Amino acid sequence: MDCIFCKIVEGTVPAKKVYENEHVLAFRDIEPIAPVHILIIPKKHIESMNAVDGDDWGLIAEIHRAAQHIAKQEGVAESGYRLVNNCGRDAGQAVYHIHYHLLAGEKLGWAKT
Ligand code: 5GP
Ligand code: ZN
Repeated sequence: MDCIFCKIVEGTVPAKKVYENEHVLAFRDIEPIAPVHILIIPKKHIESMNAVDGDDWGLIAEIHRAAQHIAKQEGVAESGYRLVNNCGRDAGQAVYHIHYHLLAGEKLGWAKT
């Protein structure tokens, strides 16, 4: 399967890892749009939010648990952070391995695009 995030999980593509456990991996986005821009993914390949089902919902909780931990680790828990999932074409999903963006480190704007 030609999935860049699966390759990061396998270790065949390098990434700046910030957190890892049995279920999830988090690493810095290659093109950050905020001072803190981290991607949190399940190690299991799931295409998008549309494909989450059954026991995989537990992985979504794991991602949120990791986000809380990483925010503290990065020192932004108190100043604030945003967790974003882009699902599908209109949201601009570019990588079809489900991921959440953790954005922080400055006052974040809110735009439709
Ligand atoms: P999406 O638009 O699918 O929600 O976001 C995909 C994100 O993955 C983008 O912010 C992009 O910069 C990031 N990205 C794409 N390829 C790589 C990569 O090989 N390494 C890392 N660290 N980030 C990547
Ligand atoms: Zn994948």
